[in-house]
Amino acid sequence: MSREFRTALGRELEELAEAGLLRSLPQPAGAGGEGTVEGKTPWLNFASSDYLGLSHHPEVIEAGCRAFRERGAGAGASRLLCPDADLQRDLEARLASWKRREAALVFPSGYAAAAGTIPVLVGAEDLVVLDRLSHASLIDGARASKATLRVFPHNDLHGLEEILRRYRPRSRRALVVTESVFSMDGDITPLQELVALKERYEAWCLVDEAHAEGVFGRTGAGIIEALGLEGRIEVELGTLSKALGSGGGFVAGDRELIDLLINRARPFVYSTALPPPSAGAAKAALALLTSGEGTRRRERLREIIALFGGGQSERSPIFPVICGEERRATAVAARLRKRGIFAPAIRFPTVPKGAARLRISLCSFHTPEEIRLLQAELEREE
Ligand SMILES: *Cc1c(COP(=O)(O)O)cnc(C)c1O
Repeated sequence: MSREFRTALGRELEELAEAGLLRSLPQPAGAGGEGTVEGKTPWLNFASSDYLGLSHHPEVIEAGCRAFRERGAGAGASRLLCPDADLQRDLEARLASWKRREAALVFPSGYAAAAGTIPVLVGAEDLVVLDRLSHASLIDGARASKATLRVFPHNDLHGLEEILRRYRPRSRRALVVTESVFSMDGDITPLQELVALKERYEAWCLVDEAHAEGVFGRTGAGIIEALGLEGRIEVELGTLSKALGSGGGFVAGDRELIDLLINRARPFVYSTALPPPSAGAAKAALALLTSGEGTRRRERLREIIALFGGGQSERSPIFPVICGEERRATAVAARLRKRGIFAPAIRFPTVPKGAARLRISLCSFHTPEEIRLLQAELEREE
């Protein structure tokens, strides 16, 4: 191995460190004295998107174990080559009916679902328009599609309309891509107005509901359910990795959409099917999420959100605490970590330069005492 290889990569790491942008994996609670209070308290974790705590529900764990025992640890092949993927198929049927769509398709991750779906829908003759704060998986999918890519200012429908007015006439198809709840800011998209706009320009729309599932809508299906927009949004993207407490991603929509993805979505075709334990666990989590237990946990989450958010309960569980400068965010996060609180610093390129922040995500299993402790620690940092 050449020394030049290490030197070249080492230099890039040094540049990241100098800019305050070096990332490293968090250490387990207790390691090096961090994450412990008086040597024993584990992390108070404010980084999880397991909003309803379903990843640890006994029924979810039992369903995962059963799938392990009966179906094995891995699926063995791509879905196209899996003769006995009935767990995955059954999960898809339930996801489709939850989302009130004709069909759904499960991918190895939400990232793969997003990045793999957009290039199936648009190509070189087309237009893809993204909200500026869209998740990396959506940006990567849009780039891979080779369609003309334009970005509109965050949640700015006038900006979106300007782009549609200008580029729609020269494009064969147009696809508007957004999230219903933004992953780093926690704000909610004006979806009703956005849908009316894309309809006027005969564009299609893909909405990523990763952070709305489990939290919004009567059965926790998301903002689309809350607003009753199922029939007007062509492509709905979801994940099994957040409120569903497992791993994997999915797309829900018309039968033709799903059939075309089965043929053309490269991360679906060329990746091994979702492991049976993940599928089994997600199926059990979905059953809970849509039951009275899900409603109770959602209500508890609303109370926690209202407590932290000063009475606002109808917002998302994601709260950005803006620090501005990258180093300030990491310093605050490190001090909180020393006091047992894990609230990660989010920096460029995940968020714009100079908009570094702590990202607090609240879950139904947080207690009022924990929220007050977090608030007290944040006040000390002001
Ligand atoms: C987490 C996330 C994804 C990716 O989902 P995974 O299942 O974790 O790969 C996609 N979109 C958004 C908005 C997300 O927050």
